[in-house]
Amino acid sequence: MATIWERPVQYLKGVGPQRARWLSRLGINTVGDLLYHLPRRYEDRTFSRPLQTLVDGETVTARGEVLTVEESTARSGLKIIRAALRHPEGTFYAVWFNQTYLTQILKPGVKVTVTGKVRRLLGFIEIQVADFEIGEDEEGINSGRIVPIYPSTEKLPQRTLRSLIFRALEENAAELPELLPPHLLRQGFFTRAQALREVHFPSTLEKAEEARKRLVLEELFLLQLALGQRRRHLASAQKPYPCRPDGPLVQQFLASLPFTLTPAQERAWREISRDMESPRPMHRLLQGDVGAGKTVVAALALVKAVENGLQGALMAPTEILAEQHFLNLHPLLEKIGIKVGLLTGNLKKELRWRQIAAIARGDIDVVIGTHTLIQEEVSFHRLGLVVIDEQHRFGVRQRTILRRKGEAPDVLVMTATPIPRTLALTLYGDLDLSVIDSLPPGRQPVKTIWIKPSALPRVYNFIRQEAAQGNQAFFVCPLIEESEELNAQAASKLAEELKKFFPEFQIGLLHGRLKLEEKERVMAAFRSGEIKLLVTTSVVEVGVDVPNATVMVIYDADRFGLAQLHQLRGRVGRSDKPSYCILVADKVTPEAQARLKAFTNLRDGFALAEEDLRIRGPGEFFGTRQSGLPELKVADLLRDHQLLPLAREEAWRFLEKDPSLSSPLGRILRQEIALRFAAFRDFVG
Ligand code: ADP
Ligand code: MG
Repeated sequence: MATIWERPVQYLKGVGPQRARWLSRLGINTVGDLLYHLPRRYEDRTFSRPLQTLVDGETVTARGEVLTVEESTARSGLKIIRAALRHPEGTFYAVWFNQTYLTQILKPGVKVTVTGKVRRLLGFIEIQVADFEIGEDEEGINSGRIVPIYPSTEKLPQRTLRSLIFRALEENAAELPELLPPHLLRQGFFTRAQALREVHFPSTLEKAEEARKRLVLEELFLLQLALGQRRRHLASAQKPYPCRPDGPLVQQFLASLPFTLTPAQERAWREISRDMESPRPMHRLLQGDVGAGKTVVAALALVKAVENGLQGALMAPTEILAEQHFLNLHPLLEKIGIKVGLLTGNLKKELRWRQIAAIARGDIDVVIGTHTLIQEEVSFHRLGLVVIDEQHRFGVRQRTILRRKGEAPDVLVMTATPIPRTLALTLYGDLDLSVIDSLPPGRQPVKTIWIKPSALPRVYNFIRQEAAQGNQAFFVCPLIEESEELNAQAASKLAEELKKFFPEFQIGLLHGRLKLEEKERVMAAFRSGEIKLLVTTSVVEVGVDVPNATVMVIYDADRFGLAQLHQLRGRVGRSDKPSYCILVADKVTPEAQARLKAFTNLRDGFALAEEDLRIRGPGEFFGTRQSGLPELKVADLLRDHQLLPLAREEAWRFLEKDPSLSSPLGRILRQEIALRFAAFRDFVG
């Protein structure tokens, strides 16, 4: 029989094609989706209190039988419907506003349940109705109990969802296969059926929470099983060409660098180098705060691959970043005889095809590019190493496609997202982790201040002095929703304004709408110092590395999240000169105020991530969307992270005994993973 994840919701009683479409908008397509559509919150609608104890102003639920109904009009024109309702303890009144159709329905004898605010008037009780239910509440799910409130839309009233979910539970809960190992149930976790019943229609609020916890654990357990399996799968592969220990090419490259590696970089490099020499393919995450110097470590790995007769590919999320990597690495690598090529979507057709042919022949050793690298027509001669920069910008899918262009190649992914170690290990359970936890020497902390727009002239004067000394500045204008067009306009407007303040300097303009050559020209001129002042949208957010830039002005800084601000600030302070980050924001919400205050005080990405979490709870700083993992239905990785270690431990323990998931429970789990995280197919495969 089909599982709940295969049974379309449309086959439930009460769901026709129209309702199925509305449900689909909520992400509910199968009976499983419906059962795992959890309440956003609950409302206590038990009516156990005697009428006489009700207090003015409190919200209650009461039930009675209609005695009389009258309609009147207030002086304001408001229509008032007032019904007298018989209750075992006496009569009370219910009041509706402007819903005159009710006079047709509220006939004497009709039973009605109302929820609303109590008013005590001269000895009788009136309830101003916020929600109500006419007739018998057959299932007893909309009142007289703790009632679930779901994420929903106008087209799907709460009571519709409630009754659909109630029916789905009745029909399915009992036969659902258990997913947690038996010893966890013995420890007191709810069974799956119990948990689903209690999470939707709880007997107490405590039980609702307990039920949610069990469902979170279930989901994380499945996630960890999938990650663990993938890890085993990857580790079982054999590399056709494992690398030899570092030879002269790597030594030459190290010697040609204008600096020596920091101890943290050395440690990361040793770990990567060891992986590359192992007969098993590397799957490593290189984590380091912005400016920590990840690129050079990646470059070492690329050199090592080439030294062993292999090709390397470096994929970056934006054109600007790919071009910058190319411009940085090209001279360093060519000097030691390595052929470097750039492949982005913006290349002229003919050049692009020439590059693709050269990559396939093996004439290019190291390819640097964007998403273009994963296109079908790109194939390699002998791809041995894949490096993915700013990996949170890519999905697991893209990582997989690029990896499959080689024969069990080594994979190194890099991120500046400051995920605490335990969370990283759990989120990226399939990857080993290297951390560059200190900045190159001589870096001065970026001085960060928050000003009102009225103080801008003073800031501009300061920037004039900086520029006169040969330093450079970024002016970042706020992100206007998703519209590239509007962002481009805002940047152009700002550039025009700044021209008035800085007639003596050339002002560069950079935004997503420019042609590639224009972008290149502007970035090159900014890098060379010909352009001192650069107006830009947040396209410079990731990776851009211009050591002479010492000032970063961010307009309407309250419109950026902490993670973005942190990335933007990371564009300055990349040398031993003092640098400044100036946040411009006027009237801000209390939340934004807390955010900007925290940002001016904290420099470390990890501390900022924690602060972000504290200010707004589970945030997007390192939410699932950035992790490249499939979206979770139940668990919130930040709020529920205390359950991660248990889930991980249980999953690993399970795989220890049943690595191929072929025991009776193992088979159920394997099926559940495949059905529940469709995205995992490509993940585990
Ligand atoms: P990120 O980790 O953010 O990608 P980058 O790799 O762009 O950082 O490095 C930031 C800057 O630090 C670059 O200009 C780079 O040349 C420089 N850098 C990297 N490693 C060192 C080092 N060991 N000593 C001095 N400067 C370094
Ligand atoms: Mg970088």
